[in-house]
Amino acid sequence: MIKDSGSCQCGKITFELWDFNPEYSICHCAECRKWTGSFYACIAAKTGHYKISGEQHITWYLKNQKSEQGFCKHCGSAIFWRESPNAVDLDFAIGMLDNPDQLRPRRHIFCQSKAKYYNIPEDGTPHLDQWN
Ligand SMILES: [Zn+2]
Ligand SMILES: [Zn+2]
Repeated sequence: MIKDSGSCQCGKITFELWDFNPEYSICHCAECRKWTGSFYACIAAKTGHYKISGEQHITWYLKNQKSEQGFCKHCGSAIFWRESPNAVDLDFAIGMLDNPDQLRPRRHIFCQSKAKYYNIPEDGTPHLDQWN
């Protein structure tokens, strides 16, 4: 069974993940660019397959009255995304994981809004204009 752990940069938020899909999505939209400073790459974890410690250090930002982004209020690491404030499934930024080498790319999404200062590799990974 695949599992991993991770943390924000300062270490006040830590988490464990297990039994998740090791394929990650890379989002090139303008909102993720502003949020992370580049693009957002994440894996999805279902409820019951993750455990977070230090939740009191998370600040949630409600985006467009809909989805929420979670970051560490101390170091600013952009860690979590969820579809709505009540959603129990969570996306975790892959840069926070301790063992990212077991992950592999699944798809690039919102490629139409990609910034022109970098290119997406032509490695066979789908390039999508929306999220699916
Ligand atoms: Zn932190
Ligand atoms: Zn995005």
